[in-house]
Amino acid sequence: MTAEERKQELVSFFHEIEDCKKCGLCQTRTNVVFGSGDPDSEIMFVGEAPGFHEDQQGKPFVGRAGKLLEELLEEIGLTREQVFIGNVLKCRPPDNRDPDPEEIESCKEHLFKQIELIRPRVICTLGNFSTKLLSGQPEGITNVHGKLRQCSIHDTTVYLYPIFHPAAALYTPKMRETLSEDFKRLPSVLRELEGEAAQTPDAGSTEGDESDEAEAVMAGAPQEPNQMDLF
Ligand code: URA
Repeated sequence: MTAEERKQELVSFFHEIEDCKKCGLCQTRTNVVFGSGDPDSEIMFVGEAPGFHEDQQGKPFVGRAGKLLEELLEEIGLTREQVFIGNVLKCRPPDNRDPDPEEIESCKEHLFKQIELIRPRVICTLGNFSTKLLSGQPEGITNVHGKLRQCSIHDTTVYLYPIFHPAAALYTPKMRETLSEDFKRLPSVLRELEGEAAQTPDAGSTEGDESDEAEAVMAGAPQEPNQMDLF
């Protein structure tokens, strides 16, 4: 699939679910928060659920945790426009309470479909909810952060790189340091995965030289914007 086709598929999928009524959150939400960024990115971030500002604007991570996420990305030479950012839940739980298991169950196929379309090389799960959902394991983020692991989403194999949720670091300087350390390993994690893909004849895409592109991304070189401005 070309980058443009991928983008169009995601836009169509957004229209399929923009009026989703699979769970009770549809009664209190303002907007479905689909996700934003580059649908062709090698890196996807998956948070928990939209908060107040995200619900209002229909865009993920635009509040205080989002500011911190942007800072952490900047530390490794990336902008939010160069990655794809989504959430486990597409709608805000009232009062920002934790997602409940039925809501996750109702919403998870939306996320799985996004992953199948975007096919990122690595998914950074932010916090417990996305880490447990995508790994299928009960281990919490404290034990698994910074450790790369493979997982399968239906027929798509991806690597997870769990990281603490930025909201956890808003008031805790020590946590901010840990997050920063985990983020700083991301460029080498990506290079490692590219190396592996290069050694597997069938692996990876045949659409151009992806390793050059990824090197450029990590060096902070300007990329052709391929945004989902719709969202
Ligand atoms: N926290 C999340 O997990 N997701 C958002 O979009 C915003 C804050």
